[in-house]
Amino acid sequence: MGRLYIVATPIGNLDDITLRAIQVLQSVDLIAAEDTRHTLKLLNHLEISKPLISCHRHNEEIKTEILIEKLREGQNIALVSDAGTPGICDPGEVVIRKCIEEGIETIPIPGACAMINAIITSGLDTKEFTFLGFLPLNKKLRKEKLEEIRKAKKTIILYEAPHKLIVTLKDLAEILEDRKVVLARELTKIHEEFIRGNINEIIQKAENLKGEMVLMIEGNKVIEEENHFENLSIEEHYKWYEQQGMEKKEIIKKMAKDRGTSKNEIYQKFI
Ligand code: SAM
Repeated sequence: MGRLYIVATPIGNLDDITLRAIQVLQSVDLIAAEDTRHTLKLLNHLEISKPLISCHRHNEEIKTEILIEKLREGQNIALVSDAGTPGICDPGEVVIRKCIEEGIETIPIPGACAMINAIITSGLDTKEFTFLGFLPLNKKLRKEKLEEIRKAKKTIILYEAPHKLIVTLKDLAEILEDRKVVLARELTKIHEEFIRGNINEIIQKAENLKGEMVLMIEGNKVIEEENHFENLSIEEHYKWYEQQGMEKKEIIKKMAKDRGTSKNEIYQKFI
């Protein structure tokens, strides 16, 4: 039985490849690549010559059968995507699952991954985070994801294509209020930059931005407060807002929202 190596490749700077990844690419019998032309450029840069087979989103099921056959024959295969870590918003999942089912050894070869490099440099909470990949385009699913982001207490990481960035930022503006947002652009490349601010500041700066982007959003602190209100009496809840200098009308409105009830009901309880 051969082995399947899942090899991370650079996300921009071609020097971001490990010695072990190079050794594996040199030693395997075959390289399964998302786009063979793209991988060929990397292999030429590394002066490696190997047979390539394409394995992308649209043919992964069929190509998996071929790859499994070759692995059964004893060939060692490296799986690479166009950039970064295979399986992270890239092909890999199907063939890896099949290898596991068939008892074929799968070996990760670590390296670049856009979301990891974006989050570690973001300045946001890195203790816990949620990676959501690309937001769905389907309206209903997108709405559900946006609601998930609105409520998320942990840092959220999203991938986005440059031509969809503004639409996504405007959708986020509807739900984010004043949460911090970080946009990591062109990681490891010449024009690498981190843009920080609230969502409206990011929108202003993002007009006409090109290149590859990772979007990160700080966790929702207000939700923590909303949950915290559940443990307060009506009077304590009222006082909490009063101490912040809010007017009665505004307080009642906020309390109704926090408690998932109507303004009328809050008034009634006071009376
Ligand atoms: N497998 C890749 C990884 O490990 O990060 C991700 C592939 S996914 C198809 C492509 C998306 O990753 C881009 O749309 C962008 O959101 C993000 N990305 C990839 N390279 C990037 C870079 N150099 N800078 C910023 N984001 C990048």
